[in-house]
Amino acid sequence: MGTPTEEVIILGSGPAGLTAALYTARANLHPLVIEGNETGGQLVLTTLVENYPGFSDGLMGPELISRMRQQAERFGARFVKGDATAADVSRNPFTLTVDNDVHKTKALIVATGASANMLGLESERKLLGHGVSTCATCDGFFFRDQKVAIVGGGDSAVEEALFLTKFAAKVTLIHRRDKLRASKIMQERIFANPKIEILWNRTVADILDVSQGKVTGIATRVDGSTSLETLACDGVFVAIGHSPNTKLFAGQLEMDERGYIVTHNGTLTSVPGVYAAGDVQDHVYKQAITAAGSGCMAALDVERYLENHG
Ligand code: NAP
Repeated sequence: MGTPTEEVIILGSGPAGLTAALYTARANLHPLVIEGNETGGQLVLTTLVENYPGFSDGLMGPELISRMRQQAERFGARFVKGDATAADVSRNPFTLTVDNDVHKTKALIVATGASANMLGLESERKLLGHGVSTCATCDGFFFRDQKVAIVGGGDSAVEEALFLTKFAAKVTLIHRRDKLRASKIMQERIFANPKIEILWNRTVADILDVSQGKVTGIATRVDGSTSLETLACDGVFVAIGHSPNTKLFAGQLEMDERGYIVTHNGTLTSVPGVYAAGDVQDHVYKQAITAAGSGCMAALDVERYLENHG
């Protein structure tokens, strides 16, 4: 006897996936959520979330995720731990492999999110959440009147540097080349801001100080030089782009040139019955609330699809 075919499987357990789970559970579709090895996506990497409407005092990212998960579970959502290692959406029912189990489903919501690109330093990994951040909107507030460094030269880095000047006493942008990739208008703004200094042609060699468990500075290397220069700072923001988690669907779903799933008319993908919600299809807004909103849209789209396709 094969495994039963689910009505809907949701891949991912960030705000998009968990909102889709809540809505499809309340529509009696008994969703199965493949939640990954760690529930929650990028929100569990952040600390205080102050811009999620309804929580006037803010709440911690992991707490927000935990509440969303409980809320979906209360209405009957089921959860499977583990990452999907294979997906086949070439025919319906679609299949997803987690460990050695193959799950079949009539409809699928892809909410696998995006991951911030990292520099790849061990100190960066160890200090993430302890002074190292990938989200100025989330964490900038904690650096009131302090010194922060931001790494990157694209629109994100420039936008975040400008945002950080609202809080920080001094913002130093560290870029590996002698030209910014950011748009001209953003460049004009950053050059005009007296709180921002730019260090050109620098790569980051290390973030200090793991032994103290907090950020005290950043060691950079000037292009071609062997010696390091250390800049004292209290926070380091890494803004070198994001990558959507879409490898499973390469060649199966239409994606843009950066690998984001292309959606149209809400959350529809290029395959009928497959929907995409949250950062996996959005490189513009990238907020918990917008991800949750698109998770809701995907759930409503799935409901309509299943009504029309039995
Ligand atoms: P991006 O445009 O890909 O820029 C990434 C930046 O990080 C580049 O300057 C790159 O340096 C640098 N970088 C990449 N890997 C690095 C590494 N290992 N070490 C050091 N530096 C590294 O990414 P983004 O800034 O996140 O922007 C993504 C997209 O969203 C872009 O299309 C952007 O225009 C758009 N966006 C728009 C706005 C806006 O209009 N308000 C705001 C944010 C984002 P190089 O320049 O040397 O390659």
